[in-house]
Amino acid sequence: MIQLAVHKSVYELSISAFLINKSKTFNGNLSLVASALQQQALRVYQIQNETFELRCHIEITPLHSFSLKQLNNRVAIVISDNIHNNNAAEAYMGAALIKLNATILQDILQFKNTRTFPHELGHVLGWDHPHANGQFGVHNPHASELEKRIPIAALEKNLMSQTWYIQKSGQPANAGTEIRQEQLDLLKQSILTQRIGRFKKTKWQWGRWVWQYPV
Ligand SMILES: [Zn+2]
Repeated sequence: MIQLAVHKSVYELSISAFLINKSKTFNGNLSLVASALQQQALRVYQIQNETFELRCHIEITPLHSFSLKQLNNRVAIVISDNIHNNNAAEAYMGAALIKLNATILQDILQFKNTRTFPHELGHVLGWDHPHANGQFGVHNPHASELEKRIPIAALEKNLMSQTWYIQKSGQPANAGTEIRQEQLDLLKQSILTQRIGRFKKTKWQWGRWVWQYPV
């Protein structure tokens, strides 16, 4: 469940998610994972600057057994051995699913990787990569008009830039966690039009979302 309350320049975001282990290789403690992910999200999603204040409440509940019905409209965070290209993670734009590769779990637990989860959460909130695929210094032509308004120079600081982009600009992999007013405006728009946070049951075992390819 994703909720947003906006009052003047204060954005109050509430997320409730389930954490599920579908991996055969990870057998760590799910409560510790949930707590690490929550802390990593809060570090990024609580902001106060001259333009706005973002407050965030995020609750992540480990589920040891579940039914798809139970997941309806909840954000599901799934630890998986089965991720496209063996990427660190994947999420679906605007859909309520984040898959974390079991291979990055130790780094998440040890806070060596603190950026992947907040970045994937951004996709669930409907945010795209602001830069073009594989290109430095170019806006993503498929991003929303609001995201295209983020100045090119700000892309190297942005949460939704891919990690290679952050590193190419000379920063460590966990840097680049800025969230911009344009992205909050987009989030507000997406929530108003109910474009985000859906979990649809299909013939697949896991939900499948039609809007976009995993990112
Ligand atoms: Zn991404």
